[in-house]
Amino acid sequence: MQLRYQFRARLTPGQCIRAARVFGCKRVVWNDALAIVAPRKQANSLLGGPRARFAEGPYWGIPKAVELGRLLITEAKKAARRAFLADAPVGVLQQTLRDLDRAWKAHEDSKSGRRPGPRVGPPAFKSRKDMRQTARFTVSDRFRVLDDGRLRLPKIGDVRIRWSRDLPSAPSSVTLIRDRSGRYWVSFVVEADPVADLLPPVDRDQGVDLGLTRFAVLADGSHIANPRFLRRAEKKLARRQRELARKEKGSKNREKARIKVARTHAAVADARRNFHHQWSHRLTRDNQAVYCETLNVRGMGRTRLAKSVYDAGWAQFVGFLEYKAKRRGRSFAKVDSRFPSSRICSSCGRRDGAKPLWVRTWTCPGCGVRLDRDWNAGKTIRREGRRVLAASKTAPSPPGPGARRR
Ligand SMILES: [Zn+2]
Repeated sequence: MQLRYQFRARLTPGQCIRAARVFGCKRVVWNDALAIVAPRKQANSLLGGPRARFAEGPYWGIPKAVELGRLLITEAKKAARRAFLADAPVGVLQQTLRDLDRAWKAHEDSKSGRRPGPRVGPPAFKSRKDMRQTARFTVSDRFRVLDDGRLRLPKIGDVRIRWSRDLPSAPSSVTLIRDRSGRYWVSFVVEADPVADLLPPVDRDQGVDLGLTRFAVLADGSHIANPRFLRRAEKKLARRQRELARKEKGSKNREKARIKVARTHAAVADARRNFHHQWSHRLTRDNQAVYCETLNVRGMGRTRLAKSVYDAGWAQFVGFLEYKAKRRGRSFAKVDSRFPSSRICSSCGRRDGAKPLWVRTWTCPGCGVRLDRDWNAGKTIRREGRRVLAASKTAPSPPGPGARRR
């Protein structure tokens, strides 16, 4: 199983300059490759797909990443105008060509309907002004962790890392990231032993109903309160955004204000991530199975609830629950978002009509149990989750908890 470990990195001013050069080389290779590939792809789609491969002229064939690498990295370096490509490790540059391949594939699969989810546009040219920059170093680039804890990145230097935990084994790659607010991170990909994290089984399971007034209501009647830090941070963010709007375009003060806004954004995201880690950790530790409603967050984004929805960041939380459950040998099941959890009796499963929001409690006509609107949903999700889990275990080809619906 592949895991990611991310840490803060502190670069010296010299290392920052060299890192910027590596990002720049990567961008040049990406843009050069896109300039060759994009017109041919467009011609292909105008001429009706693969038939264009047999057409005459400059649009004949689309070079593969290997050919592009030879042309745009190895050969290009010999010319004076691309000699600076020697400032970046070859592996990082080759990686960007593979990324471009993947970006085209994602776009084409999305167009043909093979890829679920939102539409993916064609890859775009990258700009010097892009806020987030990354460079991925593979083993062939010979990065390594030194005995003094620094990370040796070829062409950049020995970078100080703030290690917050140990890597379980040798990483297969590391990505250097410069985020919108100018902070540096390193993200390691590590092949982890899945057995090491398994927990002894427990005899409990839990239904999780994600909501707006409360972050989540659980099947045992308890709830997780919404974190208030987001609201507080939001006010600060709004103030800084107003400050930014007043600054003159292209001025140094505007750039300073932009960084302040980006830092506030980053602080909110960090705090939210910690909150999600904490609760997904607890839920998967204390329960053998966790069930959660899949939410149509994108769909809800168009309503006026959008802000609260994105604040709560449910998608991230559900993702954490899923991977933590997998690592720890717990079960996780999603209950379809079309499942009317608030209309079904958690005690007997009787399906009742829709109830207006002001109805907080009612008595089930089937079994006579008094139901509370808020708490019923968590219990119902648990009931439905158990059914989904049992069905996926007995079905000949289970869709699996990770499978995307629709
Ligand atoms: Zn009932």
